[in-house]
Amino acid sequence: MASTVFERNIPSPAVIEAALAGAKHVPFWLDDVGPAPVGAPLTGRHAADLVVVGAGYCGLWTALLAKQEDPARRVVVLESHTVGWAASGRNGGFVEASLTHGHDNGESRFPEEIDQLNALGLANLNEIEQAVKDLGLDCEFERTGSIGVAVEAYQVAELKAAADGGDTVFLDQDQVRAELNSPTYLAGLWSKQETALVHPAKLARELARVCRELGVEIFEHSGATSLVPGKGGGDVVVHTDRGRVTAAKVALATNVFPSLLKRNRLFTVPVYDYVLMTEPLTPEQLESIGWSNRQGFSDLANQFHYYRLSADNRILWGGYDALYHFGRGVKNEYEDSPETFRKLASHFLTTFPQLEGIKFSHRWAGAIDTSTRFCAFFGTAHGGRVGYATGFTGLGVAATHFAAKVMLDQLAGRDTERTRLKMVRSKPLPFPPEPFASVGIQATRWSLDRADHNGGKRNLLLKTLDAVGLGFDS
Ligand SMILES: Cc1cc2nc3c(=O)[nH]c(=O)nc-3n(C[C@H](O)[C@H](O)[C@H](O)COP(=O)(O)OP(=O)(O)OC[C@H]3O[C@@H](n4cnc5c(N)ncnc54)[C@H](O)[C@@H]3O)c2cc1C
Repeated sequence: MASTVFERNIPSPAVIEAALAGAKHVPFWLDDVGPAPVGAPLTGRHAADLVVVGAGYCGLWTALLAKQEDPARRVVVLESHTVGWAASGRNGGFVEASLTHGHDNGESRFPEEIDQLNALGLANLNEIEQAVKDLGLDCEFERTGSIGVAVEAYQVAELKAAADGGDTVFLDQDQVRAELNSPTYLAGLWSKQETALVHPAKLARELARVCRELGVEIFEHSGATSLVPGKGGGDVVVHTDRGRVTAAKVALATNVFPSLLKRNRLFTVPVYDYVLMTEPLTPEQLESIGWSNRQGFSDLANQFHYYRLSADNRILWGGYDALYHFGRGVKNEYEDSPETFRKLASHFLTTFPQLEGIKFSHRWAGAIDTSTRFCAFFGTAHGGRVGYATGFTGLGVAATHFAAKVMLDQLAGRDTERTRLKMVRSKPLPFPPEPFASVGIQATRWSLDRADHNGGKRNLLLKTLDAVGLGFDS
């Protein structure tokens, strides 16, 4: 099997260890904003028009948009931990237009509506940008665009074919290295419109601030434990350990965590994604790599890296390994994987040898709600009184805003362009129960890794998964 560029140019173990020594095991973004005052948990009995379960982006956008639609509505948010502590406070901060985890994945699953989905996705990103301005969200939003880079010869043709002569531009080796200087780059594809960058934890905090200003009540440390029909059947009662809320409508925005609707639990599995953050670059270090246009970057293999600058010129470097643990658990102990952090540091230094000597200040991980179609799914339960959206598969920073609108449409019984989409009306295939889930996921990972070592060629397992609609091509 051929080696990849990251295996041909490995830095010495001492250099890797030195770069990682002292990296705090905590998400940089959450560390950067520091703890926020936490309100009292929910106690006693309450009534509301809408209860939202989960205070990540999906829940917060749902509450915010519901209040904007009807300021008189009583909206309550229940959160097990604190606002934005989970994926929403620890992601890469790529705000992507795509609602379908990339054009190719969307086209293979929804060929008849991919153009419409792409247009809705771009409109969704534009709406988020407008909301950032209108609501004064202080979240380091930058509409930088993004560049996908070829680091293996077979990837260059793929990039050339994807250029559209408009906002998506092919860059040859010299042009891509003029944007960001890495000896590993062979070509690039600059998508100028479809990506913004954001400080993830600030976005969550700011959404919560606006929610509160609009009169939304957010109860933290108030995990919802069950949903039961209210007396007379017209309402739903959401229970927590110490209280309950009776509501006309409930929106579930619980992402990778076990759904309050048992039937939804087989539709996603938690897959852990790992991230490093460097110390701020000095002006000399920054000059050695360029990056004056500050785009988000990713490379093209099945196991890919994503990277970007922060406002204070640190480099966030994440991706590559995506680890699933037997039994579908979401556990703190899965957030540490020394081998993965060493691999990430090694690949970073292969990409930017001119930054040797740089230190990583933070390392962390988070769980991604992977669905078998690699994009969100939606639905209602309890006679249309409960709505849900999940399965964003690691691309939910922008898609959760769209999902919030879908949930509000569905809960109101509205027939809209969004609710008519096949993507919204259809469900993914469920994952099998254990041990089959674990065996299947590990075999797929192994096959994707082999394809990355073999000019991108997909083996029989991957071709079979493609044929039944379970294939993944980043
Ligand atoms: C390391 C990492 C990097 C990523 N990078 C990107 C990226 O660059 N771009 C991108 O688009 N996406 C990225 N993602 C994915 C993105 O972060 C998520 O898709 C998005 O944040 C999902 O938002 P959410 O509100 O659905 O979920 P979450 O932020 O997980 O929020 C769900 C909330 O529900 C709460 N909850 C769960 N169950 C209950 C209950 N029973 N009662 C009360 N509360 C409950 C949880 O405590 C949690 O706060 C990344 C994810 C990770 C982990």
